[in-house]
Amino acid sequence: MEKPIVYVYEEEIIKFISDAQDKIRGVAFEWEHENVFHIHTVAPKTPVSGLPCKSFMLKVSHDIFTLSNEKLLQNLELSDEFRGCNFTKKAVISVFSRSESRIVKKSFLYENTVLTDCETLYVPQKSELYSRSKGILEVGILEQKKVAVVGLGSFGSHIAVELAKAGVGNFKLFDFDRVELSNIARHICGINDLGRYKTHAIRDAVLLKNPYTDVSTFEININENGVLFSEEIEDCDLILCLTDENRSRQYINDLSIEKQKKVIYGRAITRAEGGDIFRYTPEKEKPCLACLIGKGLFKYKEEEISNKKQLARDLPAYTSVEENESVIQVGLSSDILPICNMIVKLSLVELSKGLQSGISSLEEDLVADYYLWVNRREKKYKNWEKLEYRANQLSILRWYGVRVAKDSHCLTCNDVSS
Ligand SMILES: [Zn+2]
Repeated sequence: MEKPIVYVYEEEIIKFISDAQDKIRGVAFEWEHENVFHIHTVAPKTPVSGLPCKSFMLKVSHDIFTLSNEKLLQNLELSDEFRGCNFTKKAVISVFSRSESRIVKKSFLYENTVLTDCETLYVPQKSELYSRSKGILEVGILEQKKVAVVGLGSFGSHIAVELAKAGVGNFKLFDFDRVELSNIARHICGINDLGRYKTHAIRDAVLLKNPYTDVSTFEININENGVLFSEEIEDCDLILCLTDENRSRQYINDLSIEKQKKVIYGRAITRAEGGDIFRYTPEKEKPCLACLIGKGLFKYKEEEISNKKQLARDLPAYTSVEENESVIQVGLSSDILPICNMIVKLSLVELSKGLQSGISSLEEDLVADYYLWVNRREKKYKNWEKLEYRANQLSILRWYGVRVAKDSHCLTCNDVSS
């Protein structure tokens, strides 16, 4: 039979080895018939799955590693740590010893008075968790960056988790909604998160990818709690505006100009037949969201209506229930993901700007202010050419980048006082 695997948190072990105590009790979580255990000696940051059983960690002298399992068991059973422990069920025992600069480790499954050898693996510390991305991303720099994500629907949920996977170290999450059944099909959260605040559920999803991330959550409507929001974005390097209505976008546009903050706006357009993205950077010649809308791009009327709440807010009150229901036509998650992915790439480019990293070349590619993506040849895109083998015509499933000039008459981003 395969050796059972025991995962221990390297950070917890280093602390244990340096502390004065010789033993520590914890909880091991196991998945039936899978022969794998995860040990926690401190309360986990995120809810864990699996079934709990006892776990013990012991500091031992180095010579104990040379003993046979039978001898080791006798030794352990005689020791104070085990006296009074009634092992009616299984327990995981991990022993550690410091040998010069190394930590030697061994784990056993104790069941029915038999010790079975296990393989012990570390969940690595912060510095090593994302070392695989090194060379492509400046992981060390991204760890210092702080991103505000406003709106945690299908866009915000995927993007926050992707950025955490890339190594972004700090997040502020803003949304006052809870996870509903209608969200599940496109959202990163699942059935187990129903009814939870989206902020908390996404925080957990982020921490599951990188437990060393710092995540603050705000269950506020930024349209109603602007003072707090404006204070909280002060130390953010980037704001992602992923809401589904214009008032919050306009508010973020005003704030970002005042506070000189970078913003990326993204959304799906009707039934996710496509989507668009706008990037604002506080540079003199760059357009703001109001300039863009003034030029007929990022039109409000094209908004995808994906839920009843949004409908009740955006459609006139005299429309019938049947008419209303027919307007809710959401696209597929796979229609949303290419747009999320582009927002992640633009975010990483903005967060790594000026640094030499593997994605630096993207700075020369992703220069547009506004990006358009089309999923299907429908409605206004119905006359586009079939994708087939075409390279030179407008076709679906491609990115179109547009340079947008600043509107010199825009009242939002021009200083009209002088
Ligand atoms: Zn403007």
